[in-house]
Parts: sequence; C-alpha cells; structure tokens
Amino acid sequence: MLLQKTLFSLAAVLAFVLAGCSEKPESRAPTTAEPGAASPAAEVADFVFTNGKVYTVDKEGSWAQAVAVRGDKIVYVGDNKGAESFVGNETEKIDLGGKLMLPGFVEGHFHTTTQGIILHGPDLQTDSMDELLAKLKKYADEHPDLKFINGWGVRPNIYGPGEPNAAMLDAVVPDRPVYLWQVDGHSAWVNSKAMEMAGLNKDTPDTVPGVSYFVRDDEGNPTGYIIEVPAQVEILNKFVTVDEDYIRGGMAKWFPEYSKAGITAVHDFGWAGVDQDMAIGILKDFEKDGTLGTRIYGSYYWNDASIDPVPIAKKMRDENQEGLVQVSALKINMDGDDDKYSGLYVDGYADKPDAKPEPIIPFDVINDAAVRADKEQLHLICHCFGDLAVRKFLDAVELAKKSNPEWDRRAVASHAQLVHPDDRPRFKELNATYDTTGQWFAFDPYTANVSPVRLGEARMKQLFPIKAMLEAGANVSLGSDFPAASYVADYKPLNAITVAVTRQMLGKPDMPILGGEDARLTVAEAIRANTYGAAYGIGVEDKIGSIEVGKKADLIVLDQNLFEIDPHDIYKANVIFTMMDGVVRYRDGL
Ligand SMILES: [Zn+2]
Repeated sequence: MLLQKTLFSLAAVLAFVLAGCSEKPESRAPTTAEPGAASPAAEVADFVFTNGKVYTVDKEGSWAQAVAVRGDKIVYVGDNKGAESFVGNETEKIDLGGKLMLPGFVEGHFHTTTQGIILHGPDLQTDSMDELLAKLKKYADEHPDLKFINGWGVRPNIYGPGEPNAAMLDAVVPDRPVYLWQVDGHSAWVNSKAMEMAGLNKDTPDTVPGVSYFVRDDEGNPTGYIIEVPAQVEILNKFVTVDEDYIRGGMAKWFPEYSKAGITAVHDFGWAGVDQDMAIGILKDFEKDGTLGTRIYGSYYWNDASIDPVPIAKKMRDENQEGLVQVSALKINMDGDDDKYSGLYVDGYADKPDAKPEPIIPFDVINDAAVRADKEQLHLICHCFGDLAVRKFLDAVELAKKSNPEWDRRAVASHAQLVHPDDRPRFKELNATYDTTGQWFAFDPYTANVSPVRLGEARMKQLFPIKAMLEAGANVSLGSDFPAASYVADYKPLNAITVAVTRQMLGKPDMPILGGEDARLTVAEAIRANTYGAAYGIGVEDKIGSIEVGKKADLIVLDQNLFEIDPHDIYKANVIFTMMDGVVRYRDGL
C-alpha cells in the first residue's frame, strides 16, 4: 500500500504502440486433432489428468476426478472414465495419484513492476536484527564478485525504538557498498563504504530538506539511514543505473517464482513509479518470448488531481485487449493509511481526534472522473484504506451507475481495512468486490502496535471484515499487494489462505485471533476468494477462476489436500504443477 507513491518522476505519458502479436511457447504437446472436425480425433486432448481430487470452484463447489486440456482450453471435467475418450497417441497423461487440483490462483491486487526497482538481492524480511545481519553476511560471502550489495525487505520493527546506522552493516560487510531497502520502500539503510563511494558526507545537502533526507548525527554526519525515495534514489543511482534494462532484469526473475506459487493471473493495481508504456512494453516482451507465466490485467493508477486519467486509461485499455497483457481499469487512490494519519475514517483517529486528513484527490474531482471513466466502460478500482475512503469510492461508483447506461461494470474496493457496517450491503447492490490482503489478517507487529492506537479496541474487532462482507453478499477477493508492504511483503497465495482461515500469523497457532473465530474464512471460501472471487473483480470470471469446460487451462496441483490438513499448516503445502494458458509453467514432483 505504501509503495504506491511515485518512486521516480518518470513521466507516465501514454504513447504505446502495440508491439506485434503474441506467440505461444512451444512446450505444449502437438495435437493431431483438427479443430471442429467431427471424428473422434477431434476430441484428442493435449493433456489428460486422472485420479485427482479436483476442486473446481464452480458455482456448486463441485469435485471431479479428471480434466482434459486441448490447446489453451479445458475441454473436459468429470470422472476418469469420461476422460478416456480424450486420450490419443500424443496426449500427455498425468496420473494425479489422489492429489488436489485447483484453478490457478488469481491475485486480486498485485504489482508487477516495482519488483524491478526494489527487489534486487536477498529478501531480508525477518523480525531479528541478528538474523538479518547473518543473512546479509551469508549473501555477501556467497557472492564474492559482487561489487555492490543490494537487498530488500528490512522491517522497521527490528530497529527497536532506535534507527539503523552504517556501523551495524559495517560489522558484517565493511569492504563493499551495501544498500538495503526497507520493506515499505520509504527508507534505505547503507554502510560506510556506500556513503564513502557515493560521496555522501557532512557537506552533502539533503535532497528535499525535511521530506527526503539523510539522517545525521550531532555533528551533521550522515548515519547511513536515508529517508524517502528522492534521497534514496540519489544514492542508489551512484551504484546502478535505474533504467529500463535494470527494471526489466529485476522483473524477469520474479515470474518463475509466481508460477512456483501457483499464480496464473494478477489484477495489477498500478505500475507505479515507471513509465506506463515502458511497463506494458516489458510485459509484452515477456509474453512474446514465452517467459510471462502470469496473465496481467492492468490498470492506470491515478493519484494526481492535476491529471485527467480518463483519456489515458481509455487509450491503455483500447490498445491492450488481447493476449496475456490487458488493461481494463482505472485505479483511484482515495487515501493513505492509518500509520501516517493519512487514511480516511468515518469516525476519525482514536489517538488524534483533530486529525482531518484530506483525500489525495478531491472527492468532486474523483466523482467527475468516475462518471466519465464508467461511461467509457472502464472498471473503477481503488486504494481505499479507511472506511470513509471505501464509502466515498462506493458513492462515486453509485453516481456513475446512475449517470450512465447499464453495463457489466465491476468495481473493486481494495485494502479496505475497515468497512462501515452501513456500507457493507452496498457492495452487493453495486456489484462491487471487496478485495483485501490475506497476509494482513493477523496481529503482526504492525497490526498489533499501530492499528489499536489509531483506531481503538472497538474498531480493531472489525478489522479486515472479509467474512462479514461475504455474509453481506459481496464478492470477495484476496490479493497480496506484493511487493507493497508495511510489515510483510509476500506473494504466496497459500500463505494468504492460511492467514485468512486462521486470522493468525504463519506458524503461530496459539496467538490471539484477529477479529475472533467468527472472522475466519473456511478453506473453500479462502480458495474461492483467491481464484474465482478475484477473477470476478477483474470481470474475467467467464474465462478463468474455476475449472470448467470452455475456460482457459489455468490449473495447479498441490502435494497436500488443503481440505484435509490442519488449516494452520496450509502454508506448508507445495504447488507441484502450474499450467497457464495450456502451457506447463512449473513442475516438480508430478
Ligand atoms: Zn497496491
């Protein structure tokens, strides 16, 4: 949620020209079938899966034994016997051996470009300073030839009440420059060698005094802690060139990881901090070379009242309607978050009743754009953190609905840490989706320490009301918001599902339950939210999100049956097979 501020002042001007048609990778078994032919050969499938426990996530929550895939489509779902007629000489037969098959995971809120800027080097997410330093040292030792050591995911809670400094890093890596991103992207931590090589010293002026600057000691010497993106980038640019190649390289290595986690589609909530043409161009290039293992449903991210987002979003949508990379939505940034008193709440802040944060974009400007965007049949989606932001977003959607002819609109209110009880039925009325991040549904150090102070105990019981939203008839969706985070940056749907069904942190079954037992989703509800529910929010539930004949062949197989194991252990299960668009994207042990 926090990274969505612009990271770089690269213009987001739109001048995208479609870069050719897409080609499919060649990893699929050839088929002898003639499309549309009436002979039995027409039924021959490229893949036939049998002996499975196939949880289809169709309307009835049906189970099946077997699935057949031809080309990019599912052509059969049923029992083993019925699958036999789809087997030909070239068919790859896969015996699931009783394993669980699910639709590929659809992420309801995701980002695909920020990784290219920030997520270089080791993931340093941990709650222990000793562990972080040990991880960093291990990485440095294993990469003796690296001239610059980059890392990410530093959690602010490990500093304790103090701040990090260069000496702490010097103790493990003294001889090469080290540059670490905090998990929320809003600060960096460097060692003395980095400061020396970057020429950062007492005489270096702050980049934006008071806003983006170098923390200093009593003598004015920078300590190694850098606040906010402009100053961070000033120093980062001394070591690497943050250009298209750098971003492309950083993004490329993540797609195999998403496949390994079973993700086959994402609702991309904004290519923040990069040129929009460049973002789409990189993703289309990955599609062309066959390395894009994930469908991307993108949006234009609007957080600046001086820009009219409608022509930009419309053009992006019009130019990207085919293939794996498509654009369908206008994302509106309604507010900030509770930590910085920038989230908008119906009942304000418990610890600062006078705080009256302004919306990032004035409500009348939002309403005007929402009506015009809806008229162009762009879906409206938002960053809406507090319950007042959710309410104002629903108001804008309602106004658009009243102002324009009916169409199959899908609105998504994302984050939605709180939804006022009065507004919960409105989601169903407006066909809006409640999307939020499973990984946040627990008393992690952020939720345990920041939110109770800002909101008070009564509202803490209402935090992330996904179960209540389901009961109010809303479509609900899970999306990790990766790599944005205030505490945990985690793209793995099995982790989100675990926390959604336990409302406790991973591996901590004895900790208090956020919102109590009644706030827990069932396993089936959580799986649906991370597949069909997210697809519905995008408006593509007729193509993906469940295992049904005629839908795209986006399938995963797991080594454990999530319905039969202790819900606290769901995150320990492994995805062992991922197919997207009929192509095997990941396979290990099947
Ligand atoms: Zn986001």
